[in-house]
Amino acid sequence: MSNRRAPGPSDYRSGFLRSTAWFARRDRWFRKQDRLGLPIECAACGEAAPSASLELHHLDYGGVTIVGNQWRAFERHDDLVAMHPSCHDLVHRLIDRDTVLAHQRTRRDATAIAIARVREALITHREQK
Ligand SMILES: [Zn+2]
Ligand SMILES: [Zn+2]
Repeated sequence: MSNRRAPGPSDYRSGFLRSTAWFARRDRWFRKQDRLGLPIECAACGEAAPSASLELHHLDYGGVTIVGNQWRAFERHDDLVAMHPSCHDLVHRLIDRDTVLAHQRTRRDATAIAIARVREALITHREQK
């Protein structure tokens, strides 16, 4: 039997997001983004922000595994996008309460649709002011 397994959602929240592997991966993501000359900004609302105030959202969990009892964070650079915590929350709520987005789309596509809805809502909000 292999000791390598794909983690479930509860392992992920209670374990992975608190693991040293994830914190190191997070730092590497921001360094690489900078090295590539790409902006450090929120992928949802588009505003520039310091990396310490942004969270990373997974477009693909393929790189996340447990080997033995150690978490491994081998996400590709483009499996992750940065967002403000509040924008990230909004994107998750949009994905999770929409059965089509939650189950019939890849996470990458579901996120793109949710981000488009967040932007639309932000524009409407600005026009009403
Ligand atoms: Zn934002
Ligand atoms: Zn997320």
